[in-house]
Amino acid sequence: MRTRPSKADFPLRDAADPRVLFVHSDRAKRISVKVKAGAREVHVVVPGVNAFPKARQFAMQQRDWIDVQLEALPAPQPFVPGGDILFQGQNFRLVNPVGRGRARVDRVGQRIVVPSLDLESFAGRVRRFLIREARAELEAASHHYAEKLERRVGKVSVRDTDSRWGSCITRQGEGHISYSWRLICAPPEVLEYVAAHECAHMIEANHSAAFWAVCDRIFDDVKGAKRWLNKNGPVLHAVGAEF
Ligand SMILES: [Zn+2]
Repeated sequence: MRTRPSKADFPLRDAADPRVLFVHSDRAKRISVKVKAGAREVHVVVPGVNAFPKARQFAMQQRDWIDVQLEALPAPQPFVPGGDILFQGQNFRLVNPVGRGRARVDRVGQRIVVPSLDLESFAGRVRRFLIREARAELEAASHHYAEKLERRVGKVSVRDTDSRWGSCITRQGEGHISYSWRLICAPPEVLEYVAAHECAHMIEANHSAAFWAVCDRIFDDVKGAKRWLNKNGPVLHAVGAEF
C-alpha cells in the first residue's frame, strides 16, 4: 500500500485502473466523478489530500458505473491505415499507399491518402493534415463572418481543446479566436456556425439574448448546428482516440 500522496503528486493515475485519474481540488467540498469524453477517462475529484484513501475506495465502488459510462462513449476512430474517420461530416477511409514516401497527404474521393513509412508517422501525419484543413476552413469562415459584422479578426489559432469548440477575446478592436481542430470532422455548416458564434462575441462578449440575435443575423440555422454539436460532440472527441 502506498503512502499518502502529497499535493504535488496530483493528477494521479489509478494503478489498478489506468482509465481513472485522481484530480486534487482545494475548492471541492466532496468527492465526485466526472466522465471526460475527450480523454476517454474519468476524473475523480479529491477534496484535499486527506480525502485520497476515501476517493480511491469510492472509485473502486463505482467501478461498474465507470465501465458503463466509458463503454457508452462512441467507438474510437484511431488514426491507423484502413481505419474510418469522420471528416467534414462524412466517413473517410485512411489509406497508406505503398512506396509513396513522404508525398503530401491528400483526399481522393472518400479516402484520405497518407503516405508514411511507419505507423507512428502515419498517425502524426493524419493529425497534422486535419489541423491544416481545420485552420484553412476556420480562418476563411472567421474572416467571412467578421466581415458581415464589420469587425476584424486578428489571430486564429487551432488547437486540441477538451471542453470548448471555440473562444474569442477582443483586443484593440480585433478578435483573437481559438478553435478546436475537431470541428473539421463535423459537417461544414457546423464548423461555419462555430465561427459565426465566435465572431458574434466581438459584438457581445456574453451569451445574452442580444448575443443570440447577432448569431441569428449572420447564420441561418443556429438551432440545428447547436443540436448537432450537443448530440455529436462525443463523436468528434472519438476521432483519433486509440481505445
Ligand atoms: Zn460563446
